[in-house]
Amino acid sequence: MNKISYSFSYHNGLQFNFSNNKKLLIDGSTTKISPKTTSIVSHAHSDHFSVMNSNIPTYATQETIDLYLCQKTGNTRGIFHPMRFNEKFELETDFDDLEVTLVSSGHILGSASILLELAGKKILFSSDIGGKGLLTIKEPLAKPEVDTLIVEATFGSPEISFQPREEISMDILKWAANAIKEKRNVVISAGRIGSAQELIKLFNDFTNLRVITHGDVSPPSEVYKKHDINLEFKDSKSDEGREIVKSGEAVIIQSRERKIVPYFLSEHIKYRSAIVTGMASRFSYKDFDASFPLSSHASFDELLDYISKVTPKKVFTLYGFEKKLAKAISNELQIPAIPLKDKSLEEGLENLVEIPHLKKTQNINLLTEKPLLPEEQQKKPSLQKDKTLDDFFRKR
Ligand SMILES: [Zn+2]
Repeated sequence: MNKISYSFSYHNGLQFNFSNNKKLLIDGSTTKISPKTTSIVSHAHSDHFSVMNSNIPTYATQETIDLYLCQKTGNTRGIFHPMRFNEKFELETDFDDLEVTLVSSGHILGSASILLELAGKKILFSSDIGGKGLLTIKEPLAKPEVDTLIVEATFGSPEISFQPREEISMDILKWAANAIKEKRNVVISAGRIGSAQELIKLFNDFTNLRVITHGDVSPPSEVYKKHDINLEFKDSKSDEGREIVKSGEAVIIQSRERKIVPYFLSEHIKYRSAIVTGMASRFSYKDFDASFPLSSHASFDELLDYISKVTPKKVFTLYGFEKKLAKAISNELQIPAIPLKDKSLEEGLENLVEIPHLKKTQNINLLTEKPLLPEEQQKKPSLQKDKTLDDFFRKR
């Protein structure tokens, strides 16, 4: 049997080019895709699933497919293959001996790290991974002994460190209790998929306060319920939801992307506002009464802990603080690590595949289209940018 060879790089997603001209696109951020492409989507955050708007075959967990569909208006052209966690599968199209396993990444409902086994090598793409102590999902499952790990670096800087999640949760509950004592509603802006459901569960499990979901937080929260995550909430537009808000004892969860004050809160209905984001550990948010560093992403320490459990021979970092994380992995874990966008095609092949001849693709040139921002800007993001930090870091 001919041994298949491959290369990988990052351009509009994590791209694998195979010597039989097939392509595998993971978390593709484009719908302009060549026909011989198959895709895998790790989870249902919009910066990972654009490829699902195209008509190529896409593999994902059922939870990811459901969360994607609940965000979509109109029909989808997607051809979806739902897969279960921890069950090895082959792609429908001819990828020779490539085997794939989706492993829980502990980030949001259905989120997966993707393990590829090919030509006797194991490559794990972590995608976004969660930290410890989440209430709606278990912590990421590290798959040990891979050859190559491609790991996210959203909070891959030692400057971004969180308190333990339990402490942050306690701070949120105390802050909310004080606001409610003053007969004020509580409005918390959070990531609409992940942090929002964590907050609903937090208030459900530890208080008697009633939770209102506002706008586009409601549909994904319903998907969580469909997949047996027990959440109690009322939509802000429901009759019951409106009554609860009038009582002045509501916990209102809305998306961070929304404008700050929900339309139904007027001067007659008092409230206190907060934002939850991992970046609150480093930045202040003047438009909110409070901010808390609750995140669906692993903190710097949790990332290093995860990587040490995976025991890779080499690591590529992706998204966010990729340079700083690569440096920390090299220095603290003694594992060779570089940002994925710095990887030369030849270097990757040399280390990953024994086959000597493979055509260069455009990818390596295209990589340079996304230069890093100057180091100085990385250190001092403006407060204006802080409000859309998820987008801000994704663009790097
Ligand atoms: Zn994500």
